[in-house]
Amino acid sequence: MQKGKINITAENIFPIIKKFLYSDHEIFLREMISNAVDATQKLKTLQSAGDFKGEIKDSTIRIKLDKKKKTLTFSDHGVGMTADEIKKYINQIAFSSAEEFLEKYKDKANAIIGHFGLGFYSAFMVSKKVEIHTQSYKPNTKAVLWSCDGSPEFELDEKPKKDVGTDVILYIDSESKDFLEENKINELLRKYSRYLPIPIAFGKEKDWKDGKEVVTKKDNIINITTPAWTKKPSDLKDEDYKEFYRDLYPMQEEPLFYIHLNVDYPFNLTGILYFPRLKNQVEVQKNKIRLYSNQVFVTDSVEGIVPEFLTLLHGVLDSPDIPLNVSRSFLQSDGNVKKISSHINKKVADRLNDIFKKDRKEFEKKWDDLKLFIVYGMISDEKFYERAAKFAFLKNTDGQFFTFDEYQNLIKENQTDKNKSLIYLYANNQDEQHAYIEAAKLKGYDVLLMDGHLDTHLISHLEQKFTNSRFVRVDADIVDKLIQKEDAAEAAFTGEQQNILSGLFKGALVNKEGFDVVFENLSESERPLLITQSEFSRRMKDMSALGGGMDFYGSLPDSFNLVVNANHPLINKLLADSEKAMSKELKSHKEKLESLEGHKTELEKAKEGKKEEEIKQEEKDKLSDVQKKIDKIEMKSKEMLEKSGKENTMVCQLIDLALLSNNMLKGENLAKFVKRSIDTI
Ligand code: ADP
Repeated sequence: MQKGKINITAENIFPIIKKFLYSDHEIFLREMISNAVDATQKLKTLQSAGDFKGEIKDSTIRIKLDKKKKTLTFSDHGVGMTADEIKKYINQIAFSSAEEFLEKYKDKANAIIGHFGLGFYSAFMVSKKVEIHTQSYKPNTKAVLWSCDGSPEFELDEKPKKDVGTDVILYIDSESKDFLEENKINELLRKYSRYLPIPIAFGKEKDWKDGKEVVTKKDNIINITTPAWTKKPSDLKDEDYKEFYRDLYPMQEEPLFYIHLNVDYPFNLTGILYFPRLKNQVEVQKNKIRLYSNQVFVTDSVEGIVPEFLTLLHGVLDSPDIPLNVSRSFLQSDGNVKKISSHINKKVADRLNDIFKKDRKEFEKKWDDLKLFIVYGMISDEKFYERAAKFAFLKNTDGQFFTFDEYQNLIKENQTDKNKSLIYLYANNQDEQHAYIEAAKLKGYDVLLMDGHLDTHLISHLEQKFTNSRFVRVDADIVDKLIQKEDAAEAAFTGEQQNILSGLFKGALVNKEGFDVVFENLSESERPLLITQSEFSRRMKDMSALGGGMDFYGSLPDSFNLVVNANHPLINKLLADSEKAMSKELKSHKEKLESLEGHKTELEKAKEGKKEEEIKQEEKDKLSDVQKKIDKIEMKSKEMLEKSGKENTMVCQLIDLALLSNNMLKGENLAKFVKRSIDTI
């Protein structure tokens, strides 16, 4: 029996390993199994190179859980270790033989997992004692048992072993008893070992006999040694891809498409990416891609490895060329990673373009599910935009699909304004904006439906891409002004009449500061009052709501236009009635104002041509006095009109109906409207 000290510099390395080396204790399982897979593959490599003459009867790696003894045992039929090798590889932490081996068998051994530096010692994260019982494949060597209780002292002794290979026995410590649960181990095996290339058995298969569960003699194999991505695409059918998807994500809806990646130059990459059905939840969908290195699970957070928008895809990537044990910032600047990234980007776009070209109807059918992904790609990745601009769709409110070019041709004729800008009309809520959509369609315009999660961003993006083009929401203005073809028509009503109506309507508006009253010559059949919100102010608010860094606009109050239809009989009646009812006051105000304005003009004339210092104080005082009187009368007139408007049932009804049409009449005001309506019946 030999005793010795593990060759390490720090006395207490184990507590350090336990606490800091891996934050996730569960990865010990990956490390133990990876070592076993390595050893098994090494022996196969040696055999095919003629350096091992024996036969390999059984290469299955077995994991045995013994709840009574509180042990977890990993057994392989790999190369095993001699006493010297144990001393060299196990006792000298951080000295990894994988490198040495790779150097010798460079060409054949690239399937060996050698990425995990201090791997073996992760066993101590969960164990109070670890034993290695191993028989080397080398002729004339003796089997040995190595044992270590977590202190730097170890024991090494000869102990016969039947087969070539290694048993690693972990005596699980009391803090880690989770790992003595069958379910827990099953869960971890599924996560880390599901697609390893060597068969792995966890205990034996169970069966039901006479209503009782019995353990059979058959190994319970937990992995698929040749998962779909390692096969040739020509050997796989559609159903195979779907089946593999179900194996990856048992609870997910069927994917829309897949892409099989298979690159061996200038880097090594295989994998299958799936397009999931994306609803409007970007965050939930992210981080489903799993990264493998020669079928060993590495991570399921691939940000930095693939372009941001591609993290919405599902599936697996497998590359021995991606450096695994390095920081994310390093990954992002790694040349191989960048190449892989742009390769995937291109492949994804090519695949979508293929489907679009081959089966447009199918592509249209799937568009709503794909859209979020494609739009995300277009606004976040320039290269992808260029590729996707050929096959991305715009969908109109009639459910028809157009490519960007097709749509431009469709609207060119009819939707170019007097400044030669092409106006893309859109709605973001088909129900709420129904009346506006219909009005635009009646004019022969086409209206897009932009109701997606990212459409506000897409619109700004497209405006930068499309020359001389603007997007305008259908309710941004009255239909005649959405796309201005010639200069605005004559103003409706005289200034005085406009003043009266403005006053009346403002009086009945709860939030009068939020509204500008404007007058338009609409058709008689149009509504008497309409509410619009300018594209600019609405969009700035939308952007700031989405966190576009425009808080200034976000803090502005909403501002709307109250559009008065000057041709509507009700408006004309209202004007006539009001003029009549207030004729005396209006007349007197008018006369007073006229005389004051006359006086003001005279005073201003007298000032003309004089320098500031030449004007007498007396003159200045007179002018300001006249102005004050004018303001006072105007104020009085305004107050009178607003009061009258507020008390006028028709004015209130008209305003409320306009608010109601825009889904803006709520709460107490809605209740008042209902009551007033009932009262008038
Ligand atoms: P790495 O796997 O990165 O080399 P480890 O600490 O996991 O680092 O293992 C150290 C060395 O111990 C391995 O390189 C290998 O030579 C040897 N080893 C570990 N487990 C086994 C095993 N099951 N069979 C044979 N050799 C093993």
